[in-house]
Amino acid sequence: MLLIDGKKTSEEIESEIALRVSEIKQEGGKTPHLAAILVGNDGASQTYVGAKVKSCEQVGFESTLVRLEENVSEEELLKVVADINENPAIDGLIVQLPLPKHISVEKVTNKIKPEKDVDGFTPANVGRMTLGWPAYVAATPYGIVELLKRYKIETSGKHCVVIGRSHIVGSPMSILMARNEYPGNCTVTLTHSRTQNLPEITKTADILIVAIGKPEFVTADMVKEGATVIDVGIHRIADASKKSGFKLIGDVKFDEVSEKASAITPVPGGVGPMTIASLLYNTLLAAEGKVYTK
Ligand code: NAP
Repeated sequence: MLLIDGKKTSEEIESEIALRVSEIKQEGGKTPHLAAILVGNDGASQTYVGAKVKSCEQVGFESTLVRLEENVSEEELLKVVADINENPAIDGLIVQLPLPKHISVEKVTNKIKPEKDVDGFTPANVGRMTLGWPAYVAATPYGIVELLKRYKIETSGKHCVVIGRSHIVGSPMSILMARNEYPGNCTVTLTHSRTQNLPEITKTADILIVAIGKPEFVTADMVKEGATVIDVGIHRIADASKKSGFKLIGDVKFDEVSEKASAITPVPGGVGPMTIASLLYNTLLAAEGKVYTK
């Protein structure tokens, strides 16, 4: 069984990005600059944004963190986005989700200039990705594609089953796996909560990508012998034996599924670490004008 190590792969990608940044600086070019907007005091969001800003420093990017109060108006937030859109010093912009209930995620996402949308959430980038044009691909699906590529997982002609159809993971994943390129060229089945006989479908998957958000939902009897299994889920479970008081588990019952799979991502250390690496990569693309010509 091949363990697909997202931690090691993300470190390799971040080293490659750091190397490119030092070349840009030596050539007298502009240092890539990511801006992040964080609204409110949600603990998990602060941790995620903090990790993104720290990773920027580690690869030599500049970063700007804009913190806004929980009760900021939608209009004020849209104004901050508009200002960053027009700021030539900033290459990429992310708005940390979730946003407070009084703010429309759609309005805010749509306000981000596609050229700076390094999260790949705007309609322009989702459309470009769907057409196979150069695009910023959302970080988690992009990270999975990169893992499949770097671990040389054969995808052409395979049956790929995706569980979950969210806009940030399952849906883009299904599009990417069906594209006429590597990794891709799969016959894709996208499943969701209305799908009937799910285990019958998952048992036919050569590649099973699980983004359902239910702890250890996928068990060995749902998986074909020799399948590649990608576990996107992350759940904190109380564990008194750990210093932190919790452990992380995925959407897949790792112990039993890893006995049947030919390749599998662990949780933690699988898809999760790839997400930040992908965001940094998109920011580098933005700085170098590789998606939208500057
Ligand atoms: P989500 O928005 O909650 O979507 C879950 C999907 O699962 C929905 O499409 C839902 O179907 C489907 N579903 C629910 N019950 C089902 C069932 N019984 N059978 C088949 N499908 C079912 O979740 P998400 O944002 O995609 O995230 C999924 C997981 O990945 C979560 O654990 C999340 O924390 C994790 N995640 C990890 C990363 C990372 O960096 N590693 C990034 C993002 C998310 P309907 O559409 O019909 O409701």
